[in-house]
Amino acid sequence: MSSSLPKTASAPPSHLSVLYRGPLSSCNYACPYCPFAKHTETAEEHRADAAALSRFTDWVAAQTSPLSVLFTPWGEALVRRRYQAAITALSHLPHLRQVAIQTNLSGRLDWLADAARDKVGLWATYHPGEVSRERFLARCAELDALGVRYSVGVVGRRSQLAEIEVLRAALRPEVYLWVNAFKVGPGYYTPSDLARLNAADPLFEVNTRRYPTRGQPCGAGETAISVDGAGTVRRCHFIARPLGNLYAQPVAELLRPRPCSRPSCECHIGYVHLPALGAEDLYGPGLLARIPEGPGWADPSTYLARARQLVGRSERAAG
Ligand code: SF4
Ligand code: SF4
Repeated sequence: MSSSLPKTASAPPSHLSVLYRGPLSSCNYACPYCPFAKHTETAEEHRADAAALSRFTDWVAAQTSPLSVLFTPWGEALVRRRYQAAITALSHLPHLRQVAIQTNLSGRLDWLADAARDKVGLWATYHPGEVSRERFLARCAELDALGVRYSVGVVGRRSQLAEIEVLRAALRPEVYLWVNAFKVGPGYYTPSDLARLNAADPLFEVNTRRYPTRGQPCGAGETAISVDGAGTVRRCHFIARPLGNLYAQPVAELLRPRPCSRPSCECHIGYVHLPALGAEDLYGPGLLARIPEGPGWADPSTYLARARQLVGRSERAAG
């Protein structure tokens, strides 16, 4: 497919989202559906993770243009004091718009009192089987008392449908509950399951698809990047080819519009950067923590319709 996208480097974006995933890959939970190979770090590996995190936060602090950061660890990082301290420090930077992290919410939360809480967003996942619903909800109540914004999510396994509904009913109505589709193949969900999941999460349908993205414009690599512990910059977590290194040149030199090179994109942290989806309109400043706060949240049907159109448009482009 031909592309009319410019091939020259763009000016620095008005805002850059940076997804950071350092070497840490341990977790205090053992979810059977966990996509990550878990590991117990040695003291030396913890030191290496701490050094990589410190280098990254120093880089963020040295920037002057608007940034947001999402920590997407291979395991659970928020139980570690160094990540708590990093989020606290980043939240106070004037050019830092948002700092978010994916977490199972099992660690202590009192440290958030020292953060600029209006800039912090937690992507909190509930893992039935690893924690009781009561305990998880108590953590949510702590966040409410602290005034910290968060989304709550759960993997949409059929065996957990009733639990998801009870969780939805127990959360404050303003707290968004997202459900990740359990993508084990077609026919997993019955029409009744889908109706129940769509009732629990009005955006569930968007996560049920693998979007055919090859050749489609995507902001990953232009307005969002993925960075690992060594500073290697990739456009997203799903395309391995490096664009460069965060610590070797101005990041703006690495950014430009590019069509997606993968056949499909199925993860929220990826497809929200497709301009055709218009996720910014729905999520606004809560985009990285998966908290719908934009004007489009008033009527999610527009977002759902764009997602359906994206499938049709991509299929036409691929053809
Ligand atoms: S909490 Fe997350 S990282 Fe930890 S085992 Fe469960 S899915 Fe994996
Ligand atoms: S569509 Fe997904 S896989 Fe493709 S560049 Fe964007 S985030 Fe990466």
